[in-house]
Amino acid sequence: MQQRIEKIVLAINGKEPLPVEFFYECGKINGLAEMAREILEKCDQACLTLDNQAYIAVKTSRLLAENLLAEASELLQNAAPLNSLDLVIGELIYAVAQKRRSPEERKKFSLEDKFCMDPFYSLFIYDSFEYARTCCTPRMRLPILRSKAVEQREKNIWNSPGAELIRKTILDGSYMYCHKGNCPKIAFGSLPEKNAVDIQKIVDTSAHGPGSVTFSFDNSCNLWCVSCRNELEVQPAPVQQEYIRIFDSEIAPMLQNLELARLSTRGDLFASPSMLHALRMLSETSSLKAIWLMTNGLLFDSGLFTELAGLHGRAKIQVSVDAAKADTYSIVRRGGDFEKLKGKLHEIGEFRRKNWITHYRLAFVVQSVNYREMPDFVRLTEEIGADLVSFSIMLNHIPMPNEEYRKRAVWLPEHPENDAFKTVLKDPAMRNPKVLLISSELVP
Ligand code: SF4
Repeated sequence: MQQRIEKIVLAINGKEPLPVEFFYECGKINGLAEMAREILEKCDQACLTLDNQAYIAVKTSRLLAENLLAEASELLQNAAPLNSLDLVIGELIYAVAQKRRSPEERKKFSLEDKFCMDPFYSLFIYDSFEYARTCCTPRMRLPILRSKAVEQREKNIWNSPGAELIRKTILDGSYMYCHKGNCPKIAFGSLPEKNAVDIQKIVDTSAHGPGSVTFSFDNSCNLWCVSCRNELEVQPAPVQQEYIRIFDSEIAPMLQNLELARLSTRGDLFASPSMLHALRMLSETSSLKAIWLMTNGLLFDSGLFTELAGLHGRAKIQVSVDAAKADTYSIVRRGGDFEKLKGKLHEIGEFRRKNWITHYRLAFVVQSVNYREMPDFVRLTEEIGADLVSFSIMLNHIPMPNEEYRKRAVWLPEHPENDAFKTVLKDPAMRNPKVLLISSELVP
């Protein structure tokens, strides 16, 4: 116990986060609460700040053990945006929520008897093929590591030790590498009971390769949006050639079971020759049931889409827009042209009407500069004939300085425009059945 206390004190004083494995090893909330008084006495008081994850973990655990739930909630609400991808903070958010629930609700949201299919079915390939995950960031935090250096690459990322470890934590009910505050399946209690699924069949099928792959290996984009990056990023031709080589030699051979593909959650598909190469190959993959095209829409190529007949009737599209007015669009989507975009949105609407595109979604990432336009954006969705409009809060991906992020995080209770934000959420337009709220912070 003394060794653990020393280790946590060191973490707090050095502002080093506690790894989630150590948090579990210490006995999670109860273990930390037991050690809390001694730890806090030994810490440098100047380090006990909201951006210090180890301190927040100890302090919240203590408050929870004392049943001071309102205080624990408030502390986490203030600290979470500063540690938004941290797994231990996710554990604490989940623990506080569970304590506040009724016994029936607690059972619905408990994880021990639940099953998540994602790590047995899905693969997400990111950043120059440098790493992959079995669940999309920022939910699942343990990457299945890969390396740019060819000799250090795992030969089979789908069945790599990292992937197996993640699957083990689903089967043992700990969900240790899932961000329990960010995962909507956990936050909304929508995971199925273990006994309602044929787990053995899923495990056996998954051994042959992923059923769903998200291809985000090239970050190239024609825009540099506030929520995503600070500068324009376009990979030159030799890099594109290398991406194509890796795709053909290492990725394509493991796609024999592929049912669902997504291109791309980072960068823009139509700004990337290597992503378009992947799209061409996927359009000819017979096992595929659906291909999601994720794009900012500005470079959507009607001619190419018409030419790739294998996409027709299987393609679904999501266009990220984040504004309903040209002025706001130019702020949040730097480098974009709203009038040009509207033309493209109508072109895509035509393909939807022909059913060459089977689902058409517009996406809106909420922040302080655009939240007032949410109802107008719902009306725009109707105007162009889209099926759905999704809203999510802006996560601190870049990451931007905490102070800057908090100014944009209008959903935080202490934000000066939080009351106005809540009023917008209650606008009748937001009750349109086409509205999909992806973040729990947006539920009025
Ligand atoms: S983070 Fe959520 S979706 Fe991802 S594996 Fe865990 S429970 Fe499943």
